[in-house]
Amino acid sequence: MDLFYKSTRNSQVHVTASQAILQGLSEDGGLFVPEKIPALDVSVEELSGMSYQETAYAVMRRFLTDFTEEELKDCIAKAYDEKFDVPEIAPLVKAEGAYYLELFHGATIAFKDMALSILPHLMTVSAKKNQVHEEIVILTATSGDTGKAALAGFADVPGTRIIVFYPKDGVSPIQEKQMVTQKGNNTFVVGIRGNFDDAQSGVKAIFGDSALKKELKAAGFQFSSANSINIGRLVPQIVYYVYAYARLCADGEVEKNEPVNVVVPTGNFGNILAAYYAKQMGLPIRKLICASNDNKVLYDFFQTGCYDRNREFKLTSSPSMDILISSNLERLIYQIADQSDEMDRSLMKDLAEKGRYEITPAMEERLGDFYGGYSEEAEAAESIRSLYQSVGYVIDTHTAVASSVYQKYRRETKDSTKTVIASTASPFKFTRSVMEAAGRASESVDDFALVDELSRLSGVEVPKAVEEIREAEVLHHTVVDPAQMKETVKKFLLQTGE
Ligand SMILES: *Cc1c(COP(=O)(O)O)cnc(C)c1O
Repeated sequence: MDLFYKSTRNSQVHVTASQAILQGLSEDGGLFVPEKIPALDVSVEELSGMSYQETAYAVMRRFLTDFTEEELKDCIAKAYDEKFDVPEIAPLVKAEGAYYLELFHGATIAFKDMALSILPHLMTVSAKKNQVHEEIVILTATSGDTGKAALAGFADVPGTRIIVFYPKDGVSPIQEKQMVTQKGNNTFVVGIRGNFDDAQSGVKAIFGDSALKKELKAAGFQFSSANSINIGRLVPQIVYYVYAYARLCADGEVEKNEPVNVVVPTGNFGNILAAYYAKQMGLPIRKLICASNDNKVLYDFFQTGCYDRNREFKLTSSPSMDILISSNLERLIYQIADQSDEMDRSLMKDLAEKGRYEITPAMEERLGDFYGGYSEEAEAAESIRSLYQSVGYVIDTHTAVASSVYQKYRRETKDSTKTVIASTASPFKFTRSVMEAAGRASESVDDFALVDELSRLSGVEVPKAVEEIREAEVLHHTVVDPAQMKETVKKFLLQTGE
């Protein structure tokens, strides 16, 4: 059975999975959604015997129906290989009664690797399928994490190039070092004398420049985007929830078909939406617990049915969740609006014009699968400290938000359903904050020395991703003003490699 995709803002749109992956966003500004969520219809017994790669195929083939078996298996094999430092790809660790699903064993030690290691391959296959002969050029503005994960994913993938813009003084020293040492002949990293918004606006302007588009097409290039609304990032994220459940069954931790709860530290709402899709496919998930930091726009939404971004933006120690517009929420809105593109358009118009929208009581009733929680900085730090002190397990600052929300949820609801907590980054990625929370940081020690201390503290080896950048050579030196971004792109595409 073929599965097609439509737009949340126009139900008449009808594209294949590969077309949706190539386009990223629908022309009407809407997000691509599957016309229906396919059923998993594989038994838990069968799933329990599968490797991560086999599970990925069992899940993804139901969404990407225009990929052949060979194409999809090839993408999966290229993505989930030795780039991950454990053969399980996404291992589960039991600590203090919860199961931490470690999604940080890939190239950049954060969960975005789960999707960004396969997206480049899905994209090049999609291009072939749709007779796109141009080289695909990924343009990204980053505030730190996504840029490196995208670089690592696209590096040396034939038929692609990637250009990443980051605010020169707006990312952490480790994040900058990670990016400017990126290898691969098709990678290009540029610092901007400006902030993240300048980088973002510059990229948007380049995407919207039709003369440039024409000029580059003539030279054999086509732009594309790797951001988190791409269905090619969402679908691979469903896999690890299915995999985790099957592992719990295989290990005898849950009975066959016993429901579990899932807690996800949330920013753009992509990761938790993938869990929601897994539930809709038939995976026995009871509650989807959406954990926010001090930027608790989603918590308020689940409390009141009103999404309101008009508030102070707070910088926290879980920066990847410092977001006031959770783009992927639009897919849930569309779903609970009974797939009404008209309702979706009207709410998104309110969001664009007034910064807020309110859903109807009927829509609110359909949010029963979700529970919204949040935790403040001190609470998240406390959960790092207590978990470390009680069982010696060290979690990162984002996972700590989820862990803390989970504790509060249990106290409040007395729900003792077994629970999977999405662990979205290695503690080594946010070493200073983690060590401060554990009461072990000192101002004078540099970040790399702290890394060694964390390794001693946790008994976990320093990940390769961190070890590598310590001594790595800086390969990218370009720094430009925001106004020079377009020229920089042209220079890179039309002159390098000649
Ligand atoms: C991106 C990110 C998140 C948030 O994920 P969303 O899919 O945007 O909700 C949480 N933790 C870490 C470490 C991340 O990098």
